Amino acid sequence: MHTLTGIGVSPGIVAGPAAVMNAPPVLPARPPAVTDEHAAVEAAHTALGEVAAELLERAGQAIPPAADILAAQSAMAADPVLAQRVAELIKAGRPPAYAVSDVIAEFAEQFQAAGGYLAERAADLEDLRNRIVARLLGLPMPGLPDPGHPYVLIADDLAPADTATIDPRQVLAIVTERGGPTSHTAILAKSLGLPAVVACTGAIAVADGTQLLVNGTIGTAVVAPAPSQVRSALDREAVRRAAAARVTGPGRTSDGHPVKLMANLGTARELPAATAAEGVGLLRTEFLYLDRAEAPGFDEQRAAYAEIFDAFAGRRVVVRTLDAGADKPLRFATQPDEPNPALGVRGLRTSLRSPELLDEQLAAISAAAQRARAEVWVMAPMVSTPGEAAAFAQRARAQGLPTVGVMIEVPAAALRADAVLAGCDFVSLGTNDLAQYAFAADRTLSDVADLLDPWQPALLDLIHLTAQAGHRAGKPVGVCGEAAGDALLALVLVGLGVTSLSMAPATLVDVRAALAHHTIAECRHLADLARAAPDAAAARSHVEAVAHTGRWGGARDGWR
Ligand code: PEP
Ligand code: MG
Repeated sequence: MHTLTGIGVSPGIVAGPAAVMNAPPVLPARPPAVTDEHAAVEAAHTALGEVAAELLERAGQAIPPAADILAAQSAMAADPVLAQRVAELIKAGRPPAYAVSDVIAEFAEQFQAAGGYLAERAADLEDLRNRIVARLLGLPMPGLPDPGHPYVLIADDLAPADTATIDPRQVLAIVTERGGPTSHTAILAKSLGLPAVVACTGAIAVADGTQLLVNGTIGTAVVAPAPSQVRSALDREAVRRAAAARVTGPGRTSDGHPVKLMANLGTARELPAATAAEGVGLLRTEFLYLDRAEAPGFDEQRAAYAEIFDAFAGRRVVVRTLDAGADKPLRFATQPDEPNPALGVRGLRTSLRSPELLDEQLAAISAAAQRARAEVWVMAPMVSTPGEAAAFAQRARAQGLPTVGVMIEVPAAALRADAVLAGCDFVSLGTNDLAQYAFAADRTLSDVADLLDPWQPALLDLIHLTAQAGHRAGKPVGVCGEAAGDALLALVLVGLGVTSLSMAPATLVDVRAALAHHTIAECRHLADLARAAPDAAAARSHVEAVAHTGRWGGARDGWR
């Protein structure tokens, strides 16, 4: 038994057998000669048939959207035109795996050129190619493992394409060797309510089937734990969860200071889990645009927004306009060759190059809002100056959207929060990017994960500055970065003066319970402690010591 340590990015404790996600197969640079043409064609056709059958079987067991993606891939593998082209190439001297790879690359190119729906399927073709090639080379199947029972997913890191088919009934937890606290893996795991540990050195060396005890709250994975250790950890977790679930109602401190607890939404599939929230504090509209060759049209956008607004009738939905670029590149909106994409034309800046994208989106949001009973607010990502904030507000209001805000993700905007707020109605702190830009640390890089820790006192200073500006202006200041979903840090954020917290729905219960156990004065005391700490680790441990053990100078009993 030994313990691997990483960064806990999605809370919860589970135990289960590991299943490792295999890397895509690599074809040897020098293709072997084809000695028996007939046998080679036979081998290729057998592999196509087996992969098609396997994908179809998995489609039958999966839930949407994974089921649809798997069924479409199966149909592609069974396509007679594919089999025919592969046979032709083999007869021209290409070995089976190379022939499959070449033909699928040709198809993918044609799909891309056709645009629209077909271009969106190009990534599925790539995945299909990897599966067939692995089968032909006798290598482990790439992509998500399918051991036939629930498992802890172990991967180097997860890309957006890997995650579309994650079935939360099969995956118990996610542990990755790389990734940071605000990486795609972290956001996805939280949205699915799966405990997750990222930047976990040694994870990838864990053998398939090894029992793991994963703690996504503190960021550990115990390898081959003793059964008694598993039992007591799961029992403690069940007691904690039950206690947290007993706290219901709107977010407030124990002395009644209100803090709106909202959900972050990235895709419509997260909708059912989010409806328990007081509203949506961040609707990441990229889900409509990603993996597409061109922007969705007005009608499609309006319908997608309307579905979400209808689910939140009587509550607030904060829609963030398209945040393309950097970690979310889009073929039609971002430049592929920028030397520093995180510092380039991204977020609101893309509307300088393609103003029609933003105007059409604002018009679609406005049209959907008109017929909805939700209170629709709109905000722009990656705003750097008061001028940008005011211009965006003007543009959104011109489309009939009355409540307009901006995200504070750039330190310059936090430093000038008074002026930013003068031109709009509210701000929301995107702590993921704010940490990235304040610490000059790439949020996708696990090597700099320490700097991206949302407990960094300098980050807390920027949040405090912004919250004070909101207080002076009498305007709301929310947090919608991953920091808001950390129950302990949420106390600090409230103490710093933020008025709402928006998070992955799975973390709402713990945050609500934490708030209900502390007064606003205690939250302010914790905020002072955290800001006075020399570093992130000290900030967390000082706050934890006081909040959990109740050393309030005799003022109150402990929490938990
Ligand atoms: C953020 O940067 O904190 C944020 C909420 O936006 P995203 O993670 O989508 O960049
Ligand atoms: Mg951001």
